[in-house]
Amino acid sequence: MRIILATSNQGKVREFQAWIGEHEVLAYSDVIEPFEIEETGLSFKENALIKARAVYERLGDKNVTVLSDDSGISVPALGGIPGIYSARFAGANAGAKENLNKLIQTLKDNALTKTPAFYTAAIALVCAKGEFCVHGWMHGEAIAGARGNNGFGYDPMFIPEGYEQTLGELDESVKKAFSHRARALELAHIVLKSLK
Ligand code: IMP
Repeated sequence: MRIILATSNQGKVREFQAWIGEHEVLAYSDVIEPFEIEETGLSFKENALIKARAVYERLGDKNVTVLSDDSGISVPALGGIPGIYSARFAGANAGAKENLNKLIQTLKDNALTKTPAFYTAAIALVCAKGEFCVHGWMHGEAIAGARGNNGFGYDPMFIPEGYEQTLGELDESVKKAFSHRARALELAHIVLKSLK
């Protein structure tokens, strides 16, 4: 099966390849000219489907399966923010560090030093047989500070359930085993097998 990822992020491509290595996995930007896809959905699922659908339609090839993911961190005590806006929390052109600092500051502004939080990953699959979407979650706590340099994004302020250290401090193997994306990829793999 030929799988096209609706991303040009090589980090994500490698992560997907590691999970679904028995298939040919390519970034859509290696096949067609990359184009702007507006994430106008109101949920991780909607945004993942918007991206996968847009690439599937642009490719115009009934023999491919397009996969895309959308993810982020949510803090229930803050009404679920940043949620689907995680990548652009501090503004459209904000970097990971600015987004992290904004969430830390928002916790401080609300007198929260440690509060429950969770990561969500939605993976959408679009092919001739239809549209599918699976989710994975990683629960834990967000702290009003940054610790460690491992991982990326909000990892230095996220302590996964059952641990004392942040994902910034913990070995990357913890994320590989239990992350929201790892769990969603496991389910996506099952869907892919059923589509053969
Ligand atoms: P996406 O690439 O549009 O799905 O944006 C995901 C955003 O959510 C990233 O830019 C990060 O800010 C955040 N995020 C998602 N997964 C993780 C993770 O595993 N660690 C840290 N931040 C994450």
